[in-house]
Amino acid sequence: MSQQILTINAGSSSLKFAIFDADSMDCTAIGMIDGLGTDPNFVMKDGDGSKLLSDMLEGDHFVADHAGALRTVLAAIAEHLPEARIVAVGHRVVHGGLVHSAPVVVDNDILRQLADLVPLAPLHQPHNLSGITAAKAAFPGVPQVACFDTAFHRAHPFVNDAFALPRALYDEGVRRYGFHGLSYEYVTGKLTEIAPDHAGDRIIICHLGSGASMCALRHGRSVASTMGFSALDGLPMGTRPGQIDPGVLLYLMDHKGMDAQAISNLLYKESGMKGLSGISNDMRDLEASDDPQAKQAVDYFVSSIRREIGAMTAVLGGLDAIVFCGGIGENSRTIRQSVLADMEWLGIEIDREANREGAELISSGGSLVSAFVIRTNEELMIARHTAECLARPTSLQNTGLTGKTPAQSY
Ligand code: ADP
Repeated sequence: MSQQILTINAGSSSLKFAIFDADSMDCTAIGMIDGLGTDPNFVMKDGDGSKLLSDMLEGDHFVADHAGALRTVLAAIAEHLPEARIVAVGHRVVHGGLVHSAPVVVDNDILRQLADLVPLAPLHQPHNLSGITAAKAAFPGVPQVACFDTAFHRAHPFVNDAFALPRALYDEGVRRYGFHGLSYEYVTGKLTEIAPDHAGDRIIICHLGSGASMCALRHGRSVASTMGFSALDGLPMGTRPGQIDPGVLLYLMDHKGMDAQAISNLLYKESGMKGLSGISNDMRDLEASDDPQAKQAVDYFVSSIRREIGAMTAVLGGLDAIVFCGGIGENSRTIRQSVLADMEWLGIEIDREANREGAELISSGGSLVSAFVIRTNEELMIARHTAECLARPTSLQNTGLTGKTPAQSY
């Protein structure tokens, strides 16, 4: 088997991974362990989507943390893909701060620098870094490449980068960073492939998953994002509220006695669709429910997206195409239909039939604005960036790296 790139996306309670051929970028395997520390469950598929294994990790196989998850993943790779030679590991890292506007090979200095950013993303960055540490230990000498969710947005104009707070806070990094950058980058590339005429246009991409955000692009570059300093701002999400008046937080502190920890828990885990519906954070559950609160939560989600479409169109000075991606954007025809309904005033005319059938182009022939559904692939984006870093003369050439099989690593 030729040389392979392993990608790792370490979330708060999950570890997603994929393996790509370093030359062809074909996917060899993809999978995840979720429920880390509580009910770990492991699924792994080959590049064609056939299941290689599905396992509740119970008893002796229980997995408590990312290092344990990576050990389990590597043992499975060794068993199912014994010839795989991992030549580099690419990591999704949520925050690159002010400095990183491109992927970087991680050495000890970079690791320290990324650890300094933990206060900016306390619920994500530590898991990303523990994934890197675990992979370094598992593959000694194999390059680890950090790919940042913030990097795609680093060229925002000042007005979309700042909060109207005292300047010193802006200078020390209290800014609107924006996230989901790897997804936007992949989708932008894909849009150029399937609709090259739109390459230089004014585009809005809606990444609608458990985490949700929107990005305004001009000439393929991000100019604004609904997400800001943290992954809390903008659209309501599975368990996060999105845009909120900061006065609410002062009220919770002053009159409800909530401290930072309690507020953080409320904002990251108990709000959004889950909090508003009182039923579920999963859009499928809400769409299937007849409870009026489920409907209200979905209406709030849709209304927020529609409002941001208006705002982003103003930022862009018009609109040429809109793209849906993410678990909800790719799969929920109902949400797409509701978001784009009665938008003829903006030049968007949805093709109901195409939308129902899950077509790639869901706007009608006469629509002034094209609407697309594009399946995102953050893993492939990480693998591409990692391969590019491998090819950079200064980073890795002449290091004598030959790659390691997972079995060699233990
Ligand atoms: P993340 O990567 O942020 O964890 P995903 O992009 O995988 O999230 O999206 C997960 C969400 O997608 C789930 O909360 C679920 O509500 C939604 N989803 C997946 N499939 C469907 C579907 N067929 N209809 C509606 N929503 C769906």
